[in-house]
Amino acid sequence: VGRLYDPLSSLLSVHLEMSAALGIFQRIFEYLDLKPDIEDAPNAGVMPAVRGRVEFNQVHFAYRQGTPALTNISFKVEPGRMMALVGPSGAGKSTLISLIARLYEPSSGIIRIDGMDIKQVTMESLRSHIGFVTQEPYLFYGSLLDNMRFAKEDATQAEVEDACRKAYIDDFITALPEGYHTIVGERGHRLSGGERQRIAIARAILKNPRILILDEATSHLDSQSEAYVQKALEELMKHRTTIVIAHRLSTILASDSIIVLKDGVVVEQGTHEELLIHNGLYGLLYHTQFAAANTGIAMDQLA
Ligand code: ATP
Repeated sequence: VGRLYDPLSSLLSVHLEMSAALGIFQRIFEYLDLKPDIEDAPNAGVMPAVRGRVEFNQVHFAYRQGTPALTNISFKVEPGRMMALVGPSGAGKSTLISLIARLYEPSSGIIRIDGMDIKQVTMESLRSHIGFVTQEPYLFYGSLLDNMRFAKEDATQAEVEDACRKAYIDDFITALPEGYHTIVGERGHRLSGGERQRIAIARAILKNPRILILDEATSHLDSQSEAYVQKALEELMKHRTTIVIAHRLSTILASDSIIVLKDGVVVEQGTHEELLIHNGLYGLLYHTQFAAANTGIAMDQLA
């Protein structure tokens, strides 16, 4: 279900990909007339290098008082492991991932990375450890090279090219008449969904964060583009803690654990095998997904 405009995804990209360049980050917020309402604690420390253990402990959150979006969420993801979030549309998957980067503050409960309460560290240092790959990466009007350096300001051209090769986007870029100097963004060169996604992946490779948050595309890419995106993602996820809003069966099967959300509540949690035996909502989604695999229907469209 292609969303024409997804404010959360755009905000996430703006928030997160900006972390390398705080100046631009603030300018964009001024431009959008949006102020992040969350500020660093007065005594916030810098989050040092982390191994990437992510933990939610009885987290509650509501956009509006009285309408909970997430209720009593608890889970742990060990360093280097992958956790998939599945569930129907509106279940709270995007909300959950946005809390990890502190785009919103839980109304109660604690989110920890390597045991550190994320409220106690600066947002800049927190976000430096988190990479975000969404369906719609933020591309500003400028060259591809500059757009890539957004993830790492001082990246050399060789580093950028290396990341692009790993993200399977280098061949595409070098085939353009202007190569890495091609202007993209609003009114710049148009990129396909698969190309934009691979740019987001290349940026995340450049950034090299311990924690990776993926919002898997629901848009249908052609099979060649899809295969490239999959290969690029595999490269990116190696040795990183990954939390993924999963739409593809292959991703779900590759996950170490799965959380099934419905109406902001974790209704099931476990491995693929455990959840199948349980034969609840996951079982239903899984079997319907299997049946629907050839029609290309994504899991969240079914429930
Ligand atoms: P989808 O699969 O459709 O993206 P989701 O599982 O990611 O859905 P969320 O986007 O996290 O679900 O939404 C959870 C609930 O919070 C929904 O009821 C949604 O309408 C609401 N919600 C999401 N973003 C906001 C917002 N910025 N302000 C108010 N309510 C919101």
